Amino acid sequence: MTNNLCVILGDQLSSNISSLKNFKKNQDKILMMEVFNEATYANHHKKKLVLVFSAMRHFAKELQEKGVSVTYSKINKSQDNFTKELSSQCKKIQPKRIVITHPGEYRVLQEIKKWEKVLKIPVSIVESFYQMMRKKYQILIDNNGKPKGGKWNYDIKNRKSLPKNHPDVPKPLQHKPDDITKQVIAEVKKKFPKHFGDLEPFWFAVTHEQAKKSLNDFIKNRLSMFGPYEDAMAQEESFLYHSVLSMYLNIGLLEPKQIINKVLEKDGIKVESVEGFVRQILGWREYIRGIYWYTMPKYSKTNYFDAKNKLPKFYWTGNTEMNCIKNCIEQTIKESYAHHIQRLMITGNFALIAGIKPEEVCEWYLSVYADAYEWVELPNTHGMTLYADGGVLGSKPYAASGNYINKMSDYCKDCKYDVKQKEGDDACPFNYLYWNFFLKNQKKLEKNPRLWTVFSNIKKMSQEKKSQIRNNSKKFLIQISK
Ligand SMILES: Cc1cc2nc3c(=O)[nH]c(=O)nc-3n(C[C@H](O)[C@H](O)[C@H](O)COP(=O)(O)OP(=O)(O)OC[C@H]3O[C@@H](n4cnc5c(N)ncnc54)[C@H](O)[C@@H]3O)c2cc1C
Ligand code: SF4
Repeated sequence: MTNNLCVILGDQLSSNISSLKNFKKNQDKILMMEVFNEATYANHHKKKLVLVFSAMRHFAKELQEKGVSVTYSKINKSQDNFTKELSSQCKKIQPKRIVITHPGEYRVLQEIKKWEKVLKIPVSIVESFYQMMRKKYQILIDNNGKPKGGKWNYDIKNRKSLPKNHPDVPKPLQHKPDDITKQVIAEVKKKFPKHFGDLEPFWFAVTHEQAKKSLNDFIKNRLSMFGPYEDAMAQEESFLYHSVLSMYLNIGLLEPKQIINKVLEKDGIKVESVEGFVRQILGWREYIRGIYWYTMPKYSKTNYFDAKNKLPKFYWTGNTEMNCIKNCIEQTIKESYAHHIQRLMITGNFALIAGIKPEEVCEWYLSVYADAYEWVELPNTHGMTLYADGGVLGSKPYAASGNYINKMSDYCKDCKYDVKQKEGDDACPFNYLYWNFFLKNQKKLEKNPRLWTVFSNIKKMSQEKKSQIRNNSKKFLIQISK
C-alpha cells in the first residue's frame, strides 16, 4: 500500500514544490493526470495544449529516471475531470493520504476541496513553493541601502518606440520537437481539431533544461534593450525585446528566483533594463497573484461600467480592417503570444472603449495565450485592462485613442483608417470610441484626479461634437456586432 500519493498538476512542474518536500521514494507515489475538462474549459490555443502536455510528459520521465514511481494518465475521453481520474487511480493505488501543492487557480481549489469527501482519503493541500520561500530579497540595492542608479523605478525611461531603421531583433530560441512532443502534437491535432490557433511550427521549450536555455538566450540577446523598448510595438516584430518566458514560469519550468538571480548576475546591462525586468516579475506578477487570491470569487463577477456588448467575431479570426488589431490577433493565432502592450493597449484597450462584456473578454485571453492561467489572466484582464473591478487593481482605466497607438507602433501607416481623423467613416475608430467611453462613464470617472485633463477637455466640447462622437460610435459598434 502506498503511503502518500502526491498529485502534480500541469502548472506545478518543479522538483522544488512543497508536495514533494517530504517525498519518500520507497513509500510514496506521484500521480499526473491529463484530463479533458482542463483541456476544454476554454478554447485553449493548440500550442498551449502541446506545451502543457508535453512538458508534463517530460517531467514525468525525468522523475521516473530518478527512480520515482509516477503514474501518468494520458489524455483520454473517459478521464473528464481530476476527481474522476483520481478516484479511479486511488482504487488501484490505495494511498493512505493525498498530498497536493496549493493550485494556482480558484476553480481547481474548489474541486480539490471536495476530494476528501468523495474519495474518503485524507487530503493535504500544502503551500506553494514560492509562498513558502518568499522573503525580502536584497535586490538592486547598493551597499548604503540605496537603490542602484539612484532611483527605485525607471519606467519613464522605458517608453520608446522602435526607430524606423532599427536592425532586426534577435528572435527567441526555438526548440526542435522531440519524439514525446511530436506524439503530443499528433494527439492534439486529432483530439482538439476545433481549438484556436496554429499548431505548427511548435518551438516552445518543454523541459527545464530547454527553458533554462531560453532564459540564457534572452539575457544574452534581448535583455539589454528590454527597458527602452518595453512599451514599443512593431508589425514585423512579434516578440521585440521581451523575454517570452511567462509560459515556462507559469507551469514551473522556470522559477521566479532563478530568473531574477540569473538576470542580476549579468554584468554590463543598463540599470533601467534590469530594474524594469525585475519589477515585472517581483512586482507585477506577485501583486497580481495577491489580488487574485485576496478577492476571489467575487472579483470575476464585477462589471463596473456595466459593459454589455458581445466580443466581436474578429477576436477569433483577425478579420478586421483595423490594422493594429488585425496584426495582434494574427500574431496570437500563429504564436499563442502577444507582449504586454499589445494585450493591454490594442486588444484590451479596444475591448474597454467598445464596452465589451468582461467575461467574454476574459474567456478570450484565457484561451488564446500559452501563458494564460486564471490567477494571472483574470486580474490583468478584468482589473488592469477593463477596470471592471472599479479600481481595486489600477488607479485609472488604460483607455487610449489612436494617437497613442500611432506614437508607439508602425501599425497606422498600413491601416485603412486615418489615425489623424476624429470623425466620419474613415476616422480611426479608437478616436471616437475613446471619447464615447469617457462621455458614457463620466459620472463614474470624473472625480478621478488622474483623469482631470480628459474631463476638462470634455467640458470644453460642444454638444454637436458630443453627438457626432456618439453617433459614430453607435454606427461602428452595430457594424462590428454582426
Ligand atoms: C489583458 C492581459 C492579459 C494578460 N494575461 C496574462 C496571462 O494569462 N498570463 C501571464 O503570465 N501574463 C499575462 N499578462 C501579463 C503580461 O502581458 C505577460 O506576462 C507578458 O506579456 C508575457 O510575456 P513575456 O514573458 O515576454 O514578458 P516580459 O515582458 O518579458 O516580462 C517578464 C515577465 O514579467 C512577468 N509579468 C510582466 N507583466 C506582468 C503582469 N502584468 N502580470 C503578471 N506577470 C507579469 C511575466 O511573468 C513575464 O514573463 C496579461 C496582460 C494583459 C494586459
Ligand atoms: S489608424 Fe486606428 S485602427 Fe488603424 S492601426 Fe492606427 S490605431 Fe489602429
